[in-house]
Amino acid sequence: MDLQLRGTTALVTGAGSGIGRAVALALAAEGVRLALLDRDEAGLRETAELVNGEEERQDALMLVADVTDEAQVAAAVGAVDRLDAVVCCAGISGPVGSGIEDVTLAQWNAVLAVNVTGPFLVLKHALPALRAAGAASVVLISSDSAVVASPGMVPYCTSKAALVQFARALSVDLAGTGIRVNTVAPSVVDTPMSRGDLGDSAFDAPGFPVQSGDEVAAHVAYLASPRSRAVNGTTVLSDFGYSARSGFPA
Ligand code: NAP
Repeated sequence: MDLQLRGTTALVTGAGSGIGRAVALALAAEGVRLALLDRDEAGLRETAELVNGEEERQDALMLVADVTDEAQVAAAVGAVDRLDAVVCCAGISGPVGSGIEDVTLAQWNAVLAVNVTGPFLVLKHALPALRAAGAASVVLISSDSAVVASPGMVPYCTSKAALVQFARALSVDLAGTGIRVNTVAPSVVDTPMSRGDLGDSAFDAPGFPVQSGDEVAAHVAYLASPRSRAVNGTTVLSDFGYSARSGFPA
């Protein structure tokens, strides 16, 4: 299926690693011109080199910025005049395995700042460029942690649930503008983040389903595409059906 993305422009945050990098490569392969944003300049440069080496050669725009800093976001995103898609992947997991009494206010604030305030700032400042496209798509990377929880990850789970409702509320606010807002909520994805949280050895013969960044990127590409124009204000929960199962022992 032709996703009809060729010649469009997208901004990808968190593009220096993991899912953001996979999304950048998937969109580049569809002929999308890219603005890549991350606070990690070295990671961003590596992604830009990979993107520029794709068959559809391009000079991806590199935007080094911290998504929690409004001045940096405004300067970075203001450099782009037209955006057919914005994909917000920048995120952190924060404390893992900590009971709430051991979570500091600074840790709590950091998780909410990156995972929730970050997309707010990026979209606030990207709105003129999204409006300029006429019909545009926003995709936020939430997590299955929006609907199920592992112990010791209260700030992360809270932030990811907030992101789902942020997307729904924004889709309602932007109704009639041609800008759609959807969320992808994957379970464990093999990236530096999950390896940092779980340890490399957990991925050797994992006793839990693992998906790749490329698989998440395929959902993003569909949601960014005009093929999904009727899909708005919703979440693609890619968790291998885990959360569908009832506790009823039948
Ligand atoms: P990753 O490999 O750590 O990549 C995240 C990227 O975002 C990194 O380059 C990181 O830079 C950047 N970033 C973090 N904070 C930032 C900030 N304040 N401003 C700008 N850039 C920032 O993680 P990932 O696994 O790809 O995760 C991407 C998204 O998917 C996150 O929102 C995550 O919550 C979500 N997700 C991940 C999984 C999973 O299992 N991996 C599952 C579900 C959802 P630094 O390296 O400098 O921090």
